[in-house]
Amino acid sequence: MKCHVIDALEFVGGQCSALYPEKPIYDIPAYPTIMAEELITKLKEQAAPFAPTYHLNQQVIGFRKQENGTFDVVTSKDIIINTKAIIIAAGCGSFGPNRPPLDNIRAYEGTSVFYSVRNKIAFADKSIVIAGGGDSAIDWAIELSAIARSITVVHRRNKFRCAPESTSKMEQLVALGKIHIAAPYQLHQLHGENGNLESVDLIDFESSLKNIKCDILLPFFGLSMDLGPILEWNLHMEKKYLSVQSDSMQTSIPGVYAIGDIINYPGKLKLILTGFAEAAIAAHSIYNLVYPDQPLHFEYSTTKGVKTDEKV
Ligand SMILES: Cc1cc2nc3c(=O)[nH]c(=O)nc-3n(C[C@H](O)[C@H](O)[C@H](O)COP(=O)(O)OP(=O)(O)OC[C@H]3O[C@@H](n4cnc5c(N)ncnc54)[C@H](O)[C@@H]3O)c2cc1C
Repeated sequence: MKCHVIDALEFVGGQCSALYPEKPIYDIPAYPTIMAEELITKLKEQAAPFAPTYHLNQQVIGFRKQENGTFDVVTSKDIIINTKAIIIAAGCGSFGPNRPPLDNIRAYEGTSVFYSVRNKIAFADKSIVIAGGGDSAIDWAIELSAIARSITVVHRRNKFRCAPESTSKMEQLVALGKIHIAAPYQLHQLHGENGNLESVDLIDFESSLKNIKCDILLPFFGLSMDLGPILEWNLHMEKKYLSVQSDSMQTSIPGVYAIGDIINYPGKLKLILTGFAEAAIAAHSIYNLVYPDQPLHFEYSTTKGVKTDEKV
């Protein structure tokens, strides 16, 4: 079977990558301890021979049943994927950044405005404004100060909400002129052209403005989660959880399956381990839908192996 993976985030990994990439997990079988991000790297590696197509940074907004029984899945980037089966593994809903309320911010996203740092080398020799006062803002200000041309941290209070070691490290870098602090200030307006930022206006409580020249803005105001469109898909739900048949993971709509934190059934555990097992149950059930004329002969991976020389 072939698989397309769609996620609202600009990277795969759900909660592991978005919420706790550097936390150790202790209950993944065969790993006495593994960092969440490392688990995701290994899962991607394990999925690679099956050549999944990833569609990131876009939300699934809905699906339409076709006359031939297949579904058209529609994303927020107007991509339409025709499929015989859908698996909803939407956790607590789409993750999205908490955007600062600036009129034209979306025009700069992906070129000058980023809500996470995936490849820090891309920020070498850039003039960067980092907005926020928590751990992410301060940790990245410290980290990027080693390679950026300039770093300005904008925060609406004079006090930062981060680990005390980070505060003292930042103070040292401020004293060395590697980091500049603009506080108490808030982001007010962006200036630039064609998605390329040239400067940012900041405003304080007395409404006086300050302009900072910059190429990059990194707003770190946390992530929000939103079940959003899923609530409108006419799937049976109980208390915001999708109901599934526990022997197949099928939802109330035939051909639409659900696994992971978004589902509930008697005895459900919200664990990664449980999600893995639910994915296997759903995949086995879906095989009959994708290949109705080919009976599925249950085989162990030790017997069957993984086909690396051809597209599966
Ligand atoms: C701090 C913390 C520590 C944890 N520690 C452990 C642990 O030690 N062991 C353990 O087993 N579990 C742990 N968990 C729980 C574990 O992370 C979850 O059980 C697991 O991530 C659930 O996986 P999931 O795929 O169901 O959902 P998620 O990981 O939430 O992923 C859902 C994904 O779906 C995307 N999405 C949702 N709706 C849409 C849409 N409409 N369109 C596109 N994309 C969409 C979201 O953006 C998200 O990326 C922890 C959780 C937290 C928060």
